[in-house]
Amino acid sequence: MTDVLPRHGLLIGGAEVMTAEWMDVTDPSTGRAFAQVGAATVTDVDHAVGAARAALGAWRATPPLERAQAIARFARALDEEAPQIAELIHREEGKPLGEAQMEVARACEVVHHFAGEAERLTHTMLPAGSGGRGSEIRPDGIGVVAAITPWNFPVALVIWKLAPALAAGCCVIVKPAQEAPLAARAVCEVANRSGLPAGVVSCVTGDGPTLGEALSTHPGIDKVAFTGSRRVAELIAAWASPRLKALSLELGGHGPLVVLDDADLDVAVDVAISQGYANAGQACYSVNRVFIPRSLASDFLERFRRRMEQVVLGPLATDRGVVRHHELIADAQAHGATIEGGDLIEGARFAPALITNAGPGTRVVEDEPFTPIVTVLAYDDLAAAIAEANRPDYGLVGYVCGADLRRTQDVAHAIECGTVVINGWRVVVPYAPYAGWRGSGIGCELGRPGLEAFIRWQHVRTLA
Ligand code: NAD
Repeated sequence: MTDVLPRHGLLIGGAEVMTAEWMDVTDPSTGRAFAQVGAATVTDVDHAVGAARAALGAWRATPPLERAQAIARFARALDEEAPQIAELIHREEGKPLGEAQMEVARACEVVHHFAGEAERLTHTMLPAGSGGRGSEIRPDGIGVVAAITPWNFPVALVIWKLAPALAAGCCVIVKPAQEAPLAARAVCEVANRSGLPAGVVSCVTGDGPTLGEALSTHPGIDKVAFTGSRRVAELIAAWASPRLKALSLELGGHGPLVVLDDADLDVAVDVAISQGYANAGQACYSVNRVFIPRSLASDFLERFRRRMEQVVLGPLATDRGVVRHHELIADAQAHGATIEGGDLIEGARFAPALITNAGPGTRVVEDEPFTPIVTVLAYDDLAAAIAEANRPDYGLVGYVCGADLRRTQDVAHAIECGTVVINGWRVVVPYAPYAGWRGSGIGCELGRPGLEAFIRWQHVRTLA
């Protein structure tokens, strides 16, 4: 007899909507389904867009202070629900519970931050230049936003869109990844329960390609805010751009860590280990390539190996991640690189991998691995190392370690990434923009620019 799995419907117009078809949600550590979510159709998307458009006028016109208070209530409700939401992430995505709790805690901070930002969304009156009475510069919510998000940070990447969009006066339809929809859906449920007006936040779960296309082509959607792979980003841009929708695309990275010759090697190792293997390597901000002065390489590697032995990873969240991990290791072997670790332990759980002696052309040197692999590359010339760090078409997060602050900042400025972290590894803060440069995306999230990304400006010029 098969177990009856708990079912979680769509959230449209403030209500739960049951569907004809359902999709399993699987625990990657057991490979077994433990819940089901609604498989939305194109008609469901249409209903969600209709509910959002119906709510938009009043939400946009809500005075900023009231909107701020409503978002603050949502933030407090999310704080209360945080333990349960972290459990859901742990279960559906496989990351260790501590990492899931950290993700939710940081996401809550983002909602609190944007509740405050909503209050600070002020109109500006400028004096008339030549004649007339003056100019009002008025921020207005961009409209109805489709938030299409990946599975690797299923709550954070919803919140980075949802919180600023709400602060700006937008309505949001969340479309989480089919691999990990439960925690994202729970966030939307909390938003509705906390008293946000019906239709302001909806959630449609189901098949990614079907719903992604339906949202990106729908005439009632004003902006698509996407995080995920470059392959899907290109599809979404092709659907949204001819329809002149606003677009933000947050894509993968291929994080370089440039270690300078005066660096504290224990700090450098800590950055490489923490960011190389966080979420089993399935993070866009991962350290993927470490550039180390040749004279320090053996000392660095010795310390790295000692730390690597203590690393215990959660399972890879998807079958395609498991396949890619095997392929990347085989490719590195075929290119004559040296591989340590990286073996399958059980199920979808791997030991962390370290690759050395890899040359250009090896896949781990060229592309985002998105599995727990750190490649260490010895360098003789700093300028050449920086050029190599910038060569592949990515530009999300880079890292620098060194003692001379001035020099570390010069190197940070030379690294073509939207974020560079010096002598540490905490990347994201709610008040600073997080942007993918070059092949890592268009637009940015968080910080003031991440709020303005959901705003359209109106100039009201009163002449008489
Ligand atoms: P993905 O592109 O496969 O999926 C992302 C979203 O698109 C999901 O909601 C999915 O259901 C949907 N989707 C999938 N196929 C689609 C299609 N054909 N048409 C329309 N929508 C479709 O990405 P993923 O595997 O879930 O996530 C991994 C990628 O995301 C990595 O490259 C990672 O680096 C990147 N990422 C970037 C950031 C950032 O902030 N820059 C953060 C996390 C992850």
